[in-house]
Amino acid sequence: MRALFNYIKEVVYAFVSLAKGLLLTLRYFVTIKKVNITEEYPDNRTTTISVKERFYGEVVLTHDENNEHKCTACTLCQIACPNNSIQIISKQVETEDGKKKRVLDKWIYHLDMCTFCYQCIDACPQDAIEMKNSFELSVYDRSKLVRQLNRPGSKLKEKPTVKEQQS
Ligand code: SF4
Ligand code: SF4
Repeated sequence: MRALFNYIKEVVYAFVSLAKGLLLTLRYFVTIKKVNITEEYPDNRTTTISVKERFYGEVVLTHDENNEHKCTACTLCQIACPNNSIQIISKQVETEDGKKKRVLDKWIYHLDMCTFCYQCIDACPQDAIEMKNSFELSVYDRSKLVRQLNRPGSKLKEKPTVKEQQS
């Protein structure tokens, strides 16, 4: 008899608890329905969020104000990358003095495969690449995570000659 009484008591408690929860939901729905309780992401991104400088979110090829980068297309970063996240595509050009020279054509970064291990940056002898603390990187289409890092029209920053350094 006592067991039956306890069972009925638990069932009643369950219904009371359920009713309390529903009433609370109803109260929020009626009173503060104009306020966003949750936000859809990534559609409603907020630009006020920031992360620490040391956060690793994306490899970038740095460019200066003249749209020049320091990448010599040596492929050391590509070799160092354990995930095949980097493709360095080079092309041959003819310099003003008629010499043939290999230069960077496309610096392709597969962000979708990058584990932010920093090995490419350590491997680069030119300090051409660095890690950015980006975090707003979500996309619906995975192909958008494959990027060309050298900007359109950019070129290799020429190092000053010994003569230029001395003058
Ligand atoms: S951070 Fe690591 S995984 Fe990402 S591109 Fe560089 S070497 Fe590859
Ligand atoms: S980013 Fe650095 S390591 Fe990679 S190809 Fe360019 S110069 Fe070489």
